[in-house]
Amino acid sequence: MYTTKKLKDNHINLFLITETNEHNVVNSHYTYIKKFNGLMYDITNDHNKKYFCVKCLLFFRSEEALKNHYDNYPECFNNTPCKCVLPDKGKNFIEFKNYKN
Ligand SMILES: [Zn+2]
Repeated sequence: MYTTKKLKDNHINLFLITETNEHNVVNSHYTYIKKFNGLMYDITNDHNKKYFCVKCLLFFRSEEALKNHYDNYPECFNNTPCKCVLPDKGKNFIEFKNYKN
């Protein structure tokens, strides 16, 4: 995955699709993401309009709030891309093992 360090005036996002065939040959190609917010829309159960940061994938309720994020947190573009990955159901708890009463 490649991400730019700066949001461009005419910024576009590309999606990399990779397939491996039966001979272990990897085919990949990029496709243009026309509506990034539309691609990310179903990430939550909340179906109100959302505006996603293309770098950290945080979402905001208004375009103005997203612009505020870009203006006030330029370090967002200096970081590597990230995504929160939560533990699977059944493994989503912590328990103390080394304790004495
Ligand atoms: Zn961000």
